[in-house]
Amino acid sequence: MTLIIPFDNTYARLPNSFYARQAPIPVRAPQLIAFNEDLARVLRVAPGDVHEMAEAFAGNTLPDGSEPIAQLYSGHQFGNYNPQLGDGRAVLLGETVGNDGVRRDIQLKGSGPTPFSRQGDGRAWLGPVLREYIVSEAMHALGIPTTRALAAVETGEVVLRKGPMPGAVLTRVAQSHLRVGTFQVFASRGQFDSLRQLTDYAIQRHYPQAKGPMGLLRAVVQKQSELIAAWMSVGFIHGVMNTDNSSIAGETIDYGPCAFMDTYHPNTVYSSIDRMGRYAYSNQPEIAVWNAAQLATALIQQVEDKQAAVEEATEIVHAMPDLLQENWQARFRSKLGLSISEEGDEGLITDLLVRMAQNQADFTNTFRALGSDTARAQFTDPAAFDTWAEGWKARLQREDDPFPVMAAANPAFIPRNHRVEQMIEAAVQGDYGPFHRLNRVLAQPFKEQPDEADLKRPPTQSEVVHATFCGT
Ligand code: AMP
Ligand code: MG
Repeated sequence: MTLIIPFDNTYARLPNSFYARQAPIPVRAPQLIAFNEDLARVLRVAPGDVHEMAEAFAGNTLPDGSEPIAQLYSGHQFGNYNPQLGDGRAVLLGETVGNDGVRRDIQLKGSGPTPFSRQGDGRAWLGPVLREYIVSEAMHALGIPTTRALAAVETGEVVLRKGPMPGAVLTRVAQSHLRVGTFQVFASRGQFDSLRQLTDYAIQRHYPQAKGPMGLLRAVVQKQSELIAAWMSVGFIHGVMNTDNSSIAGETIDYGPCAFMDTYHPNTVYSSIDRMGRYAYSNQPEIAVWNAAQLATALIQQVEDKQAAVEEATEIVHAMPDLLQENWQARFRSKLGLSISEEGDEGLITDLLVRMAQNQADFTNTFRALGSDTARAQFTDPAAFDTWAEGWKARLQREDDPFPVMAAANPAFIPRNHRVEQMIEAAVQGDYGPFHRLNRVLAQPFKEQPDEADLKRPPTQSEVVHATFCGT
């Protein structure tokens, strides 16, 4: 068996100011942890033997047709503009067109220093690699647009973080790695020809029906609105919604200190670096609008008729809160089993959420339990649920078949933080059992799996994860 990746690269055809040519830096003793066969089939990647795949997905050998590059971008980090970021610990091997006709990037993350590494070592440790593998694949199974994981390897080398940690490399697959920050870098440098070229490229690759920079903005705003609403509907907190982590294709990208909420509270923050709570759960829609405004600002720079472009961009960005709200409502209506839309639905949803917050209800388990009689038990004061449920049950009378709608919108299984942490701890000790188990169970999040019911349990006091850390 020989590993074959049918590369068909386009980004490497763009001017060389868009990237630096950079091969991955070999590692000492790569070991394959996981290879995603289902995804490989979609990508038309033919698996090789284990040793060969370990070498390739560690970056020790380059599969035929790959043209490794580190991409240039910049971005706002926690609201402050950083004029140059770029792939500091990743290289794009190239692109493939899958059997679904979709073009995707294949990128190694943790593959060694690049010209964009600044003071970083270009490496990743095992924890964030496994976290991204599990959480991104879980997101995909939940039906939420996301980058995916094709492979993970241990490098056999040590990286220094809190202490010496085992090194690892993730093979990440994305519809592209174009970010808001990819536009910002050319706009802020006044490189308008490059900005135009990038805009044309993004339109052709992601939104061929879009017309011009403002058409692209409109399309991204639509996609981002759907995405953030989807996050909200599963209690997902991205943690670092910087503009360099905001995908033009509208996928969830750059899983760092991300987390799914256990107990519902709108102000929940996990990221240890987010001291002000900028990227708290309930702030995510507002931040998505802020990021869209940054994209608008960048895109406008290339337009001759600034006045008209500013007006159109303003209209598009100002319409985004309503778009987000519509998408949010659609998602949460489904969670309550509501297929038709009625005037009072928003109030019904927010009333439930307020009561959940007041009663320390588990986000995932409460919604999942709506289809049974156990939801009230999620509330410290079950009567708070009962009085809400009277109105809800009256509303359900006007629905044909609400239970299948709920079952398809309310997962039984999410990657709970304490399980992810336990999985990482085991892996560091060489036990990949919990990793494979999580991966298997989370592939079918809407299916009851009675033997795995312990993975539905919220953390005990001692298991609660209070802070999550960046992958750096
Ligand atoms: P992130 O917070 O993961 O979005 O990364 C922000 C920036 O820091 C990007 O330009 C990364 O490439 C860079 N970066 C993060 N970790 C490292 C590392 N270990 N070595 C070099 N660059 C890094
Ligand atoms: Mg990033």
